[in-house]
Amino acid sequence: MRPNRRGGGIGRRAGLRIQWGNHPPCGFKSHPRHPTLGPLDLTGALRALQENKLAIETVVDELFRVIAEREPTLQAFLSLAEPEELKARARAVAHRPLRGLPIAVKDNICTLEFPTTCASRLLARYRSPYEATAVARLKAMGMVVQGKTNLDEFAMGSSTENSAFGPTRNPWDPQRVPGGSSGGSAAAVAAGEALAALGSDTGGSVRQPAALCGVVGLRPTYGLVSRYGLVAFASSLDTIGPITKSVRDAALLLSLIGGHDPRDSTSLPLPAQDYTQDLRPHLAGLKLGLPKEYVPAELGPEVRALVDRWCALAEELGAQVVSISLPLTEYALPTYYLIASAEAAANLARYDGVRYTLRIPVEGVQETIAQSRTLGFGREVKRRIALGTFALSAGYYDQYYGKAQRVRTLIAQEFAEAFTRVDLIFGPTSPTPAFGLGEKADPLSMYLSDLFTIPSALAGLPAISIPAGKVNGLPFGLQLIGPRLSEAKLLCAALALEEALS
Ligand code: GLN
Repeated sequence: MRPNRRGGGIGRRAGLRIQWGNHPPCGFKSHPRHPTLGPLDLTGALRALQENKLAIETVVDELFRVIAEREPTLQAFLSLAEPEELKARARAVAHRPLRGLPIAVKDNICTLEFPTTCASRLLARYRSPYEATAVARLKAMGMVVQGKTNLDEFAMGSSTENSAFGPTRNPWDPQRVPGGSSGGSAAAVAAGEALAALGSDTGGSVRQPAALCGVVGLRPTYGLVSRYGLVAFASSLDTIGPITKSVRDAALLLSLIGGHDPRDSTSLPLPAQDYTQDLRPHLAGLKLGLPKEYVPAELGPEVRALVDRWCALAEELGAQVVSISLPLTEYALPTYYLIASAEAAANLARYDGVRYTLRIPVEGVQETIAQSRTLGFGREVKRRIALGTFALSAGYYDQYYGKAQRVRTLIAQEFAEAFTRVDLIFGPTSPTPAFGLGEKADPLSMYLSDLFTIPSALAGLPAISIPAGKVNGLPFGLQLIGPRLSEAKLLCAALALEEALS
């Protein structure tokens, strides 16, 4: 294991043409959809391995060739395997269904192989004694963890700039952020440093970075994927989701990580489902709702023109597009920031400088706790703890947290009502493409990046972001939101749009 914190890389404007070798190994065809990105997706690599057209060593070598080239600039990983060690691990499981294929894992998901730092100084040396169910399931199927990816500290943020170990940069333009909080996972996949990755989505952290990096990000229905081993931020919202190069890869990974887990009391009592089985492009006959609140005038003409093109494309594919209204959208952000911060304040109370890693030893227990937390946590985390503690305090509980809970219920009802009239809801994943590093120093402007991902998160709904054109020459994401447990339908619709957009 090689720690990969900091160093290197002033914004060398890397060319966008990232290839899987100058000649694709063994002569298999490029994946048609991403001419500028690594041509092989996870499913493609798996097929090539199954057909003996590719060796797992070649996969590892190619990933590390790209890593050597791009990682000094991107800083997507916080820890990374050594190639030879990864090959040995891959060979040991090569007889299993996933054949030793590597996956990158966000560093707030517990693994045995590497530290799990949550990009926090407080957990800089923390090694988990157990691994997340999602990771254990991938390993059981024959995947190997390639490394741990950067994030906003404890997944609080939308740009990966809140990492205690420095920001990750966007592979399309290193002067821009990759989005967040799963920015390391999205950047690694977009650059071709990883075939696929796991991220976590509390209010948008899988979908928004996927949109800003031009890859696919899926947030599953709350409870479909076990949270066991995902370091808690806001437990009623946290989900683990795949970040991939293609919709079919998202279906594959969801099939591997989903299904009931007795170790997570909020895990839905459903067996694992194979979403690849019936995966086929399907949009015909569906009614798609475009909420007018998701295309406000502030979005600007280029975004609005792109959304118009999506509508025309969906209709060409046989869908009916209708305009709908979700008037409670404007209350989603304040509701989310009260609930998520309240839960975070409670969850993060466990970092007391006694257990886990960082301890600043001063005279007295209370002082030690206070000093360890003051120096261990970054600004954004402390801001949320302060807000959450205030919202939960006696006298304010009803006014803030209690009220936010009631609005959350209304938002969920508003979605449920909308889904009696439309099959799926769609719109932009994020109001803008990737923004510049340091551009959103004011927390409120940063919070606005999640305007379109937070409402469905509050309602516990599944949603997927797929790359769907460019704005200012940068990738721009289309989000599809479905009713609870509509993942199969959502993936088929996303596949239809993905194929039509390629
Ligand atoms: N950006 C949102 C926040 O800062 C969402 C983060 C997430 O989904 N983990 O809370």
